[in-house]
Amino acid sequence: MDAHRLRNLHRPDILRERLAHEGVPRTTLSFYRYVRLSEVEALRDVLYAEWEALGVLGRVYIAPEGINAQVSVPSAELEVFRAALDAREAFARVPWKIAVEDDGRSFLKLIVRVKKKIVADGLADDAFDVTNVGEHLDAATFNRKMEEGALVVDMRNNYECLIGHFDGAYLPKADTFRGAIEEVVDQLKDHKDREVLMYCTGGIRCEKASAYLKHQGFTKVAQLHGGIIDYARQLKAEGLKSKYLGQNFVFDERLTERITDDVVSTCMQCGSPCDRITNCHEATCNMLLVQCDACATKYADCCSPSCREIHLLPVEVQRAWRKGRSTRSTRTKAITDPEGLRRRIREEEELLALNGTLHPSVAGARGEGGPELTEVIHPTS
Ligand SMILES: [Zn+2]
Ligand SMILES: [Zn+2]
Repeated sequence: MDAHRLRNLHRPDILRERLAHEGVPRTTLSFYRYVRLSEVEALRDVLYAEWEALGVLGRVYIAPEGINAQVSVPSAELEVFRAALDAREAFARVPWKIAVEDDGRSFLKLIVRVKKKIVADGLADDAFDVTNVGEHLDAATFNRKMEEGALVVDMRNNYECLIGHFDGAYLPKADTFRGAIEEVVDQLKDHKDREVLMYCTGGIRCEKASAYLKHQGFTKVAQLHGGIIDYARQLKAEGLKSKYLGQNFVFDERLTERITDDVVSTCMQCGSPCDRITNCHEATCNMLLVQCDACATKYADCCSPSCREIHLLPVEVQRAWRKGRSTRSTRTKAITDPEGLRRRIREEEELLALNGTLHPSVAGARGEGGPELTEVIHPTS
């Protein structure tokens, strides 16, 4: 096969233009499956050719451990696409989720990429059978098993659990998936014969997590099918009562969606009930934190007096200060020790009251004619 046929070489603006004028109704859907795949390179080429011929766009990852696909399919070709999936034993009857809000413009081209894993999770999963997953539960069954006393475990990133979670769920503190799953195994090691329910945002993390728990000797492992996102949909559709409290962290511009009015968290700075999640506005810090409106004002949208001092400096001074420092990308790290943060705030406020600055180097670097630091910083308390 001609290698050129396997890549879309057009520029994004041309692709966008073409898609806008295509006039073809499209359906965006996603699916994944942990399944042993062999000769993934060859499979990649075949899938690309087959799906491109149907006009499929999207992003598909395949790996020896399975497939993870988000695609936009011309609606007229949906049945053909389904048949093509079902014709392959590895993908037969794979459940797919159709995106509800869909303008059909989600993807510009088709990318099928070979990866080491379909989800980066840091687990040495050659050691266990990733396809031996837990039982999949719908919302009603998940609720019932909770009432019957099953243990519930949150498998999302630690910061995603902050502002909402299932009532009474164990929330791992580790900040990697691998750390979290090892923590769960350790915490529940005396309960290997109890029923363990796992959940995450969309369901895929629990596939691996449940297989890992079974490998570790847990006998009754189940997971929330479709994750919290589909749980919320089922609540509405079936009029069920939510056992998930608070907000759900989502992966688009909204950041969160509210499931119930419960406020399950407190402001990390003052301890008052609050579930407003935000990033520290000091660009090199950017830590996620729960912060009430009063503290947002007090700390100028920052996590600490130290970050506030930098954030309130003139832009060009901030820029000079940032040189050589790395800026953290958003949504990756959250403050996990609010107690420690409050201690640090107290210490910094004391120092600030004493010295007028927490960053003497910046105060010096501002040079002649710069505003006095006391004009910029108003230490409170
Ligand atoms: Zn506060
Ligand atoms: Zn900060």
